[in-house]
Amino acid sequence: MGYEALARKWRPKQFGDVVGQEHVTRTLCNAIRNGRLHHAYLFVGPRGIGKTSIARIFAKALCCENGGPTETPCDRCSSCLEIAAGNSLDVIEIDGASNNNVEQVRELRDTVKFAPVRGAFKIYLIDEVHMLSAGAFNALLKTLEEPPSHVKFIFATTEPEKVLPTIISRCQRFDLRRIPVGQIVDRLTQIVESDQVRAEPDALLAVARGAEGGLRDAESALDQLIAFTGNTITEADVLAVFGLVSRETIERLVDGILEGDIRVLLRITGDLDDAGKDLQRLLVELIGYFRNLLVCLHVENPGKELALPAEQVSVLEGQVGKSNTGRLLRVVTMLSDAEDRMRYALSRRVLLETVLIRCARAATVVTLEEILEKIQALREDGGGVGRGPVAARGVRQEVDFRSRAVASAPSSVARELEEAPAAPAALPLGVAESDLHMMARLQACWPEVVKRVSKIAVGSAAALMDLVPLEVEGDHVVLGYPLEFRERMEVLRHTRLQSGLHQILRRYLDRDVVVRLQGFDGPAPAVEVPAAIAESVVCENTGAGAHASSSRNSRAAWYQDPHVQAVLEAFNGEVADIRGVS
Ligand SMILES: [Zn+2]
Repeated sequence: MGYEALARKWRPKQFGDVVGQEHVTRTLCNAIRNGRLHHAYLFVGPRGIGKTSIARIFAKALCCENGGPTETPCDRCSSCLEIAAGNSLDVIEIDGASNNNVEQVRELRDTVKFAPVRGAFKIYLIDEVHMLSAGAFNALLKTLEEPPSHVKFIFATTEPEKVLPTIISRCQRFDLRRIPVGQIVDRLTQIVESDQVRAEPDALLAVARGAEGGLRDAESALDQLIAFTGNTITEADVLAVFGLVSRETIERLVDGILEGDIRVLLRITGDLDDAGKDLQRLLVELIGYFRNLLVCLHVENPGKELALPAEQVSVLEGQVGKSNTGRLLRVVTMLSDAEDRMRYALSRRVLLETVLIRCARAATVVTLEEILEKIQALREDGGGVGRGPVAARGVRQEVDFRSRAVASAPSSVARELEEAPAAPAALPLGVAESDLHMMARLQACWPEVVKRVSKIAVGSAAALMDLVPLEVEGDHVVLGYPLEFRERMEVLRHTRLQSGLHQILRRYLDRDVVVRLQGFDGPAPAVEVPAAIAESVVCENTGAGAHASSSRNSRAAWYQDPHVQAVLEAFNGEVADIRGVS
């Protein structure tokens, strides 16, 4: 017998052989057992997870000559054999992708009338049913409305939203799920054992990870690996063939994030990029890993829930010990945000590096809950928090924090303006401020300007962060951006953002300016301002100079307080109000 592809050789023959879709096979078996058969079924789900296999088994189960309809078709009678070989006259398989015109469906409609040749049913399997043309759909609908009792329809689709609702409503719908990694590994183990191939457990795990829930993909990958490596498969082979990153490396990256070890993160990222690994893929895997950590943190028996070997679960548990829910959630959010941007990033490596650094910070910053717990603990210890220096001064300072949802609407320009201070009144400069002074002022205020403007339009932060003040000449301000990121600058074209930038600059610089963008190659050109001038300039919101006595200044000082900043950072929040400051 010639070579047979693994996916084909291991295609399930019975409901009991189907991997990972018990919720579907169980329901179908019950229906057969109780004689409650519907006339049309729709199987929905991504490719390679068993839709067609289940449809064929169902067809065999209905038509089997040994006791059909039966939950366990015999696989020996002529009906079972013909269906398995794809040449049964009573089971008509149609590929929606290649037979999508009206004529063919009309033909189908005409044959529906004729009684089955062999058994009690005539079954139409239509794969990729969403590919049928509108005319074909309508022709099909007529038949679906009043099918003869011997006719059954089984549809399969990867894109249910493209199937006419009137068709879906006439079907019993089953949503097949992606198959969990653990179950794919089990099946692969079974296959290599039976084919006498030696494979490291980590190698099979890597294949399963790469298949993203599709058993057929996993089996095809295994086929490819056997062809590539002969009869011994190592994890390294799998990683090399599919550009995946080893589990051990991912574990080290996660350690790096949880411990805030930026040096390790940069080194590993560099190595992976040099080795040509798929960084987008890595990001997806990291998201999955952090999800596993969260599961570990909240589930009684994580080994069972995650379907992972005990050894890996103990690694996860060790890592969870270094973190908590709030921090892990922040990291997952950041990684997910980056996943979208990764697709369009010019330099994936740079993006990944920045994201990992941000994650490392988010994973190590103390959350407000933790601070509150500590304060509570101090109180209970009889420590004098209430008698601390702030209270002793008799001034009550309250800061309202409003947590900001990740996808929240951008704050309005108006509010940013309201929060932005008026230009410092006590600037020790004459009316004719020189360009250098202006430059110094712009440099001093720039971080604050960026922060405010980036709140005006979601997604503008990355672009704004890359801008640097290059030149001031009279009323003209030149901002530079790295040519490497020129696509990213598109976002700055938004009118709302531009007018926001102008208005905020006017507040900080105390004059109307014309802004021009200019690209530069390589590192940002440094613009030196003599120290004497730089020191004479005070940007209200950027330094110790802010602690002046006017009420505005003292509000700003609170905003700039390092503790307040730490809390804002921890919560991804913003100051909504400051009370108790006159
Ligand atoms: Zn049979």
